[in-house]
Amino acid sequence: MMNVRTAAKPAPVALSDERSVTLLGATGSIGASTVDLIKREPGRFRVEAVSANTSAAALAALARDVGARFAAVADQSAYGELKSALAGTGIEAAAGANALVEAAQRPAQWVIGAITGAAGLRPTLAAAERGAIVAIANKECLVCAGGLFMRRAAAAGATVLPVDSEHNALFQAMSAGRREDVRRVILTASGGPFRTWSAEQIRGATLEQALKHPNWSMGQKVTIDSATLMNKGLEVIEAHHLFALSPDEIDVVVHAQSVIHGLVEFRDGSYIAQLGSPDMRIPIAHCLAWPARIDGPAPRLDLAQIGTLSFEQPDLTRFPALALARRALEAGGGAPTVLNAANEVAVAAFLSGALGFVGIAALVEATLAGADARGLLREPSSVDDALAIDHNARLLSRELLPQIAAKDR
Ligand code: NAD
Ligand code: MG
Repeated sequence: MMNVRTAAKPAPVALSDERSVTLLGATGSIGASTVDLIKREPGRFRVEAVSANTSAAALAALARDVGARFAAVADQSAYGELKSALAGTGIEAAAGANALVEAAQRPAQWVIGAITGAAGLRPTLAAAERGAIVAIANKECLVCAGGLFMRRAAAAGATVLPVDSEHNALFQAMSAGRREDVRRVILTASGGPFRTWSAEQIRGATLEQALKHPNWSMGQKVTIDSATLMNKGLEVIEAHHLFALSPDEIDVVVHAQSVIHGLVEFRDGSYIAQLGSPDMRIPIAHCLAWPARIDGPAPRLDLAQIGTLSFEQPDLTRFPALALARRALEAGGGAPTVLNAANEVAVAAFLSGALGFVGIAALVEATLAGADARGLLREPSSVDDALAIDHNARLLSRELLPQIAAKDR
């Protein structure tokens, strides 16, 4: 069964009607791309609520710019700044974890889930639980608690649309056939900035080098995940939940040009692929306009100019994070929750200079190895339970951090 609704079941809203949209994680890279699209289509979209983590000034400016009704910042201490920046605008200000949930619960037809990390789980789920059309970029919330998320979304009659470019490609390609005729799917990976580097060179990779993604311009967390290939591992788990695919039905191929974003193989041997420039405004536009289409501002493809599309097997020796994610998916239970939490701690440590590049996968591996003794590999029984596993896995990762950091220097 496919959990994501296909284009064969159109939403009741015609595109000529104004759509109300809430942006969770509005001040980030996906948020900015979404705002860009919304502003290009005056009269088509109305922004209900916007949220951010700590940046009250940026959020207030954005809320004014798009004419939002409600602005929520996660950081309680930023409330005063947000409130005064919105004084006299009529835009309601709120702060704290519950304010993000409230933003998600406000009556917008579309909710874009663009928060980074498992921090997005509660608000994104709150949108799904009121039956909204939820366009998910926030893959970590599905890795943390994907089974629970998809079950609750289905029970509430929500529609989950994938923003992540590979999953959006699969979603589009899936509509070429029946779900039961799908043999497997293939996610493409750019290979990141270290695709051609030796293991020795990767060992010495700096933060600056890791942040230089060859094709995509994105937030820091997902950019580092792309350099380790953990991003593709998280995406394998994301595909498992979004499309109810077993691990052996999800393949990954490295495709350096990022022109083909994903392929679906049907039982007759047909492969349906989605192609486009590496510009997130393409999958976001698809989600915002679904099941219709709007004009997209992304550069058009010039295949003759591109010349060659190349494909190679991912190297799990140089990029062990992808193998770790696959193992976590196969192990099931709380393993993906632990994997995601440990990776969030490891990436934050790398960004702050407390951990070397190869230490990221090493810390995730060590956390997974120690998780069983702490009872963290159980299947999360509820969202609270998933967040408790997430919390305790973070504590374990932080305990292990000094010894892992010492090893890779
Ligand atoms: P970003 O760092 O640029 O923005 C993240 C947004 O979430 C910001 O608005 C930030 O204020 C908010 N946020 C961060 N931590 C938060 C917290 N603890 N509580 C509440 N809000 C918080 O990230 P991004 O690149 O836009 O990515 C967002 C999500 O989309 C990630 O899950 C990422 O993996 C996914 N994604 C991004 C891209 C891309 O091109 N940027 C592509 C595919 C998927
Ligand atoms: Mg992706």
